[in-house]
Amino acid sequence: MSEYQHRARKRFGQNFLHDAGVIHRILRGIHPREGERLVEIGPGQGALTEGLLGSGARLDVVELDLDLIPILRERFGNLPNFSLHQGDALKFDFTRLSDQPHSLRVVGNLPYNISTPLIFHLLDHAGLIRDMHFMLQKEVVERLAAGPGGGDWGRLSIMVQYHCRVEHLFNVGPGAFNPPPKVDSAIVRLVPHEVLPFPARDHRQLERVVRDAFNQRRKTLRNTLKGLLDAQAIEAAGVDGSLRPEQLDLAAFVRLADKLCEQTSTA
Ligand code: SAM
Repeated sequence: MSEYQHRARKRFGQNFLHDAGVIHRILRGIHPREGERLVEIGPGQGALTEGLLGSGARLDVVELDLDLIPILRERFGNLPNFSLHQGDALKFDFTRLSDQPHSLRVVGNLPYNISTPLIFHLLDHAGLIRDMHFMLQKEVVERLAAGPGGGDWGRLSIMVQYHCRVEHLFNVGPGAFNPPPKVDSAIVRLVPHEVLPFPARDHRQLERVVRDAFNQRRKTLRNTLKGLLDAQAIEAAGVDGSLRPEQLDLAAFVRLADKLCEQTSTA
């Protein structure tokens, strides 16, 4: 038993996993192996950390809460495959950990308030990452894994699926955590593509098109994209401007982004 006692803090999104069956199922989904390079975001009191280290993989953890640092150090500090970084994962430079393409395996039961910005931060280094396994709010996982045509399909689904294959692995109820969160959770696997299936000429233009398109998701593309592309340009990209943004697939958004690039380069 540790000499340190920790009370969960809401502002750090602390809901600690305590259900051994769920912890085991998550570890099985990750399937860490000796020699691999793992990073855990928000290890907390080490619910997942212990099993990750037990695999013999090399593990770096990034934890923001200063009070958890002595607990983690006491539990794992003497293991040769463990490194502890105190700090904000949103500002952490993941390129410090590896220079090998597709080598890092990132895992975490994430604080729900930072999950979307953290995924975007990690996607900036998508080429370094082999895969990511996260516990997230169930609704967020449904949006990540959504396909075109429904209400869940939007900016998050498109920008993440541009970079990654997404798998919704399983759901986890509030009872698996202490304290229990007010929402259901789910485990998602994100695997960055080695070769992008629909590469855009300029990734920033894809972000612009998707952001504007979904600003008013009930309107037609002709209306929502007015500030970027006119009706003719939309048609020239092979897209029906009378559709609503949620009816378009990733490939069509990339064609619109490329049209915007073409337009800006000839302006
Ligand atoms: N992994 C542990 C578990 O499953 O029991 C804890 C999960 S808890 C939902 C989220 C953890 O992330 C907490 O330990 C919290 O202190 C940490 N955290 C919160 N914000 C963070 C940030 N910006 N960077 C790194 N860690 C953060």
